[in-house]
Amino acid sequence: MRILVTGGAGFIGSHLIDRLMEQKHDVLCLDNFYTGHKHNLLRWFDNPFFELIRHDITEPIRLEADQIYHLACPASPVHYQFNPVKTIKTNVMGTLNMLGLAKRVNARILLASTSEVYGDPSVHPQPEEYRGNVNPIGIRSCYDEGKRVAETLCFDYHRQNGVDIRVARIFNTYGPRMLENDGRVVSNFIVQALKGTPLTVYGDGSQTRSFCYVSDLVEGLIRLMNGDMIGPVNLGNPGEYTILELAQKIQKRVNPKAEIQFKPLPQDDPKQRQPDITRAKTYLDWEPTIPLDEGLKFTIEDFQKRVVRPS
Ligand code: NAD
Ligand code: UDP
Ligand code: UDP
Repeated sequence: MRILVTGGAGFIGSHLIDRLMEQKHDVLCLDNFYTGHKHNLLRWFDNPFFELIRHDITEPIRLEADQIYHLACPASPVHYQFNPVKTIKTNVMGTLNMLGLAKRVNARILLASTSEVYGDPSVHPQPEEYRGNVNPIGIRSCYDEGKRVAETLCFDYHRQNGVDIRVARIFNTYGPRMLENDGRVVSNFIVQALKGTPLTVYGDGSQTRSFCYVSDLVEGLIRLMNGDMIGPVNLGNPGEYTILELAQKIQKRVNPKAEIQFKPLPQDDPKQRQPDITRAKTYLDWEPTIPLDEGLKFTIEDFQKRVVRPS
């Protein structure tokens, strides 16, 4: 199959491309390299079945594909808040262009949506039926509301034009290849512990997240793409931890001497988050297999190769 992956040079996208290439597909990657890097894909550069195109998805593009995994969008609050208007354009105009392309060539398109569509949830854990508690005018809105519109566009193209859609709501995912300056919590804590600087816990650290290892997530995306359930489907690991627990785990594992420092909690930071994955279990026969401790071990090993410790 010819498979287009937008955002394929990024963290999740590059792991997905590894799997698709190993399955002998013809893979086309579109990326503007905002948070993605060519080095994530270096191993495929000489392969004639891999093509990398530098392109910003807010501009139209005509290509042919059988399936489209639409992942292009910065995912870390630090990066998506750096240029919020661009984040909205990527989610709205970028998704519109990819849906237009899917319609033109009759491709199946999977949107990488997010648990952020639930905002600061008042229902816990979050099932797909929950409609969320999102601030439309806050600093996270460019991303949360952008993804909500992206979901709406998918369902409207599906109803109006018969476009074959899949919608995944991805919960916090971590693993090797996250950028050193990614800004998300797992990579921040690991890099800080390796460098011997304080681990920055925002607020009192009592807010919770549920962390999914990237290989589990990629398996869920592939099952969703190739199954009959259009979604939305939550993909995440139900193991829920407070941010302080996460800091302590990483501190213990990487550098017990590193301090924990408390910093102000950013605006609209969700207080708790855990996926209800009944739908994914039922329709995709999918559930995560890598517990946090094991996934952290692989992730720490990867950062150890990249992060320079101060001498
Ligand atoms: P990432 O930032 O590593 O990857 C995003 C990729 O998209 C990068 O390669 C970036 O250069 C590219 N990109 C951004 N804007 C673009 C544009 N306008 N045109 C072309 N390319 C563009 O993030 P990730 O963690 O790999 O996330 C991938 C997708 O999954 C995103 O859509 C994100 O919203 C979604 N998601 C991720 C998580 C997570 O925890 N990692 C959680 C929920 C949803
Ligand atoms: N589009 C694209 N590649 C294609 C087909 C469409 O980038 O192969 C873009 C197109 O330029 C438009 C968007 O997708 O901005 C939506 O396309 P659609 O055909 O649904 O709407 P229209 O072009 O009629 O506005
Ligand atoms: N966080 C933190 N220290 C950091 C980075 C993040 O305490 O250095 C917190 C953040 O406030 C949030 C949680 O960790 O409560 C997860 O943040 P992340 O940016 O990874 O993802 P998101 O908030 O989008 O789920």
